[in-house]
Amino acid sequence: MHRLKSLVRGEWVEGQGAHATLFNPTTEAPVAEASTAGIDMGLALAFARDHGGPALRAMTFAQRGELLRALSKAVHGAREELIELGIVNAGNTRGDAKFDVDGASGTLMAYADLGRELGDATYFAEGEPIAFGRSSRLSGQHVLVPREGVAVHVNAFNFPAWGLAEKLAGALLAGVPVLAKPATATAWMTARLVERIDEAGILPPGALSLLVGSAGDLLSRLGPQDALAFTGGSATGTKLRGGHNMLSLAVRVNVEADSLNAAVLAPDVERGSETYALFVGDVARDATQKAGQKCTAIRRVLVPASMLDAVREDLADRLSSVVVGDPASDATQMGPVATKEQLHDVRAGLDKLVSSGKVELVTGGASRPRLDPALGERGYFVAPTLLLARDARAAAVVHEHEVFGPSTTLMPYDGTASDAVAIVRLGMGGLVTSVYTDDKAWAKAAVLGLAPHHGRVYIGSAKMAGASLGPGTVLPQMVHGGPGRAGGGEELGGLRGLSLYLQRTAIQGYGPLVDSLVAGAKRV
Ligand code: NAP
Repeated sequence: MHRLKSLVRGEWVEGQGAHATLFNPTTEAPVAEASTAGIDMGLALAFARDHGGPALRAMTFAQRGELLRALSKAVHGAREELIELGIVNAGNTRGDAKFDVDGASGTLMAYADLGRELGDATYFAEGEPIAFGRSSRLSGQHVLVPREGVAVHVNAFNFPAWGLAEKLAGALLAGVPVLAKPATATAWMTARLVERIDEAGILPPGALSLLVGSAGDLLSRLGPQDALAFTGGSATGTKLRGGHNMLSLAVRVNVEADSLNAAVLAPDVERGSETYALFVGDVARDATQKAGQKCTAIRRVLVPASMLDAVREDLADRLSSVVVGDPASDATQMGPVATKEQLHDVRAGLDKLVSSGKVELVTGGASRPRLDPALGERGYFVAPTLLLARDARAAAVVHEHEVFGPSTTLMPYDGTASDAVAIVRLGMGGLVTSVYTDDKAWAKAAVLGLAPHHGRVYIGSAKMAGASLGPGTVLPQMVHGGPGRAGGGEELGGLRGLSLYLQRTAIQGYGPLVDSLVAGAKRV
């Protein structure tokens, strides 16, 4: 079986003792194993701080950007190999894996271009100098400088390539080295990606380290200059951000967690219109892409009560016609969920929703779908599932429990923007909600009502339908994250994605001296 290694202190090392097993979710066959036992986490962090940090900080933004450009090309060069690993170790269809891998190279390239734009500076001056008193003898200026720690990136299982890249890009451009810890279950793709980067000799030693397997005592060793960026379940996020050193040393923590994203159909949209087709297409794609294991997937679908039957029929038709099966086959539109635990959690989640008595099953469900007999009884398969809650407010469980699989729940609202907003808000904060309308006034009321509760609001309309990427696509130029249940974090968003790794410092003193200190800084 393939043994995955970790990259620490500039070397690839194998863990000791018992190894965790990684499986092929289609065949349930073990495919690889990993362990981090025996790795000294303190030394791993120290190497990154002492070697990677100084090397990156000595570079200009443009030079760091060129590193990201080379990384993007390396990811693209490894595309076919990585897609294959997505099929074998994560149950991805080719399309699912491409979405992940191309998302990774695209995000790195966007940050490479940003680095080029930022030019020859190594840090930022924020805003204009502020004079105190009548003369310019005393003045102040905020600067943003790279912190001298390590960016530890703990990622979820669902995006082994993009998850690495979207966090890596902002940290390296800021001038901070990264120690990445992908979720163990699907780490093979990440491990191979980092191997390819290492083989290409792009980064200075210590700029990127990788832990494949358990984090061990890594997080308890983080200090005041380090940062933790976490993506995963809220329970894990809550535990990690509550660590003693996180609180007592104020280690910076960014959490990207669960989200009960919604899609809202406005009353102006008629069945058969372009906007309606966009809405149905987005909901169906999000329920099935990566077998619904996307943090941005639409979990709640709100439609005016008068449209409930029509939408129920159209979504049920779409979802029940999806071809589920072996992701290696070109005919397959949706593969299995990634792990046995995922299969268990998704089934338990569907049972929980339906047994509440407030949610009906329309199509799909927790039992094994009908599949190509060649697959036998193996594989972690779930059918695309549509649920219906006839009373959106009474179905509290729909707004509280995320089923992280190919499932979405339809519910009615009264057609007003205020009712839609009130129901969506029951989710307690989300990554993204999409509204589908061609009515400007309705859009404005809905978007402004939703905005305080979301990191992103997406407006689907006839005029943009042909060019739409859907609400599930996270763009490097726009922020990703959301308040409340979604973790309260913020990643990407162009320059904003660097802030977790920069220290904002107010410099005060003799005006001309302060000015001279920031003469070479990039003013933002
Ligand atoms: P998870 O079980 O919370 O695991 C996430 C990561 O945390 C994994 O790398 C895991 O490592 C690590 N981890 C778990 N316990 C840890 C500990 N005590 N110390 C250090 N690291 C620890 O989540 P998941 O099952 O991978 O992902 C599914 C969840 O992620 C869903 O709820 C989904 O909504 C959420 N998600 C959110 C976003 C977003 O951007 N908001 C994106 C994707 C997914 P091991 O694998 O080694 O246990």
